[in-house]
Amino acid sequence: MEIQLPANAKLIIEKLRQSGYSCYAVGGCVRDSLRGITPHDWDFTTSAKPDEIEQVFSEYQTIAVGKKYGTVAVLIGGEIFEITTYRVDGAYSDARHPDEVRFSDRIQDDLARRDFTVNAMAYNDEHGLIDLYGGRQDLSFGVIRCVGDPQERFSEDALRIMRALRFASVLGFTIEPHTSDAILKQRKLLGGIASERIREELLKLLCGDRADFILRRYRSVIAVVIPELKGTFDFEQHSKHHNRDVYRHIVAAVHNVEPEPLLRVTMLFHDIGKPLSQTIDKHGVCHYKGHQKIGAAMTREILRRLCMPSVFIDEVCDLIRWHDERFKPDPVMLKQYLKLLGADAMQKLMLVQRADILAQSAYLREEKLSNLMAVSEELNRIISAGECYSLRQLSVSGADLLHSGFCTGVRIGQILDALLDKVIEGELPNEKDALLDYAKKTFDKDA
Ligand code: ATP
Ligand code: MG
Repeated sequence: MEIQLPANAKLIIEKLRQSGYSCYAVGGCVRDSLRGITPHDWDFTTSAKPDEIEQVFSEYQTIAVGKKYGTVAVLIGGEIFEITTYRVDGAYSDARHPDEVRFSDRIQDDLARRDFTVNAMAYNDEHGLIDLYGGRQDLSFGVIRCVGDPQERFSEDALRIMRALRFASVLGFTIEPHTSDAILKQRKLLGGIASERIREELLKLLCGDRADFILRRYRSVIAVVIPELKGTFDFEQHSKHHNRDVYRHIVAAVHNVEPEPLLRVTMLFHDIGKPLSQTIDKHGVCHYKGHQKIGAAMTREILRRLCMPSVFIDEVCDLIRWHDERFKPDPVMLKQYLKLLGADAMQKLMLVQRADILAQSAYLREEKLSNLMAVSEELNRIISAGECYSLRQLSVSGADLLHSGFCTGVRIGQILDALLDKVIEGELPNEKDALLDYAKKTFDKDA
C-alpha cells in the first residue's frame, strides 16, 4: 500500500520545501494510509518554526492553535491542516501539551517523542516513508509498541496507557509484551490525568471493534479510571438468566451494541448497581431489585467525574434506569412509556434490551427475544402511524383551554396531562371538540 498525498497535502509540503524547510505528513494519517484507510485528517511536521510557517502561508488564513507548542493551523480550500514544528518534548501534565518543548531541526527528534511505533512514521514524496522504529512491520503484524522504553514513556505521560488500549481496541491489535507489562505496572498513574483527556480515549476505546477483549484483559487499568466497576469483577450472579459474572456480562453486552458512544457507555454501566442490590431468597436464588435505579445514580456520578456533557449523562442514565423494564407489545402500555421517555429513548431501549438478552444465558432467550421483537414492532407502528402519546400531538392546546375559560397555568397543565392519559388509554378520541367537551364537563373552571 503506497501513500497517496491529497493535492492540498502536496501543496503544503511543496510550499515549505520551496522556502527551504523540510516537511512530512506524520502520525495517524500515515498509519491509516498504510492500512488502506482514508485518513480523517492530515497532520504535518516541519523544520519551520511557527512564525516561519505563518510567513510561508501568509496568503492563506492561519490560526495559531498552539504556537507555543509549535502548531499552526492553515486553512486551505475550506479544510484545516495542522502543521507542527519538529520538537523534543518534556513531561506532559496538562490537557494536551507537554510542560516544555524544545524545537528541533531534525525529523528524527520529532519521531522519537511520539507514542507508538505505528504512530511514529512520516512521509513525503521526496524522501518516502521515514520509519525509524519498525512501525510498518508492527502495523502489518498488528502490534502496539512504545517508541523507546515503555516504562519511561508511560511515566512521562500516563494518558499513553489509555491511548495504547484505545488503539488496540480500534485497530484490533495486540499490545507488545513489554508495552503491556508497563501498562499494567504503571496504571495507577492514570489517576493523575485530567478527566477530559481520559474521557476522549475511553469513548474511542469503547467504540473499538475489540473493546470486549481490551475491557477484559486490561480490567485493572479500567478500574483505575472507574473504580466503581471493581465490584462487578468476578461477581457471580447465581441466577438462571446468567452464565457470566456481572463484569463479563457487561463486557459481552458492550460488544452487542453498535459502536456508538451513547449505547456503549450505557451497556458498560447498565448493571453496575447489581453488587449493591443483591438479595438471596430461600432457594439460594439471587435477585437484584432496584439495581437499575442504583446503577443510574452511580453512573451519573461517574460520568460527571469524567466531564461528560450533561445531555449525554441524562440520556445514558434514563436508558440504565429503564433497561430492565418488562415491556409488552401492548399499545396503551407502550404509549405510556413513550409519553414518559420519548420515541428516541424508547427505540434505543430496544437496542439496549437486545444487547442485554444476548449477553445472558440461553434460559428463555427465544421467548425474551420474540417478545422484544413484538414490542419493537408495535413501538415502530405507533410512531410511524403518528398515534398520540405526547402533549405535542394532542389535538387540544393550553391556548384552547384558556379560550374555553380555564385560567391558571398549573391547572391547564394538569388538565392537558389528564386528557393525554385518556387519549392514550383509548377512552377519548384525539379530537379537539371531544376533548374540550370532556374538559368542560369534567373539570371545574374555577378550581
Ligand atoms: P486519530 O486522530 O485517528 O485518533 P492519531 O494517531 O492521529 O489518531 P492524535 O491524538 O490525533 O492521534 O495524535 C496525532 C499524533 O500525535 C499521534 O499519531 C502521535 O504520533 C502523536 N501523539 C498524540 N498524543 C501523544 C502522546 N500523548 N504522546 C506521544 N505522542 C502523541
Ligand atoms: Mg489525529
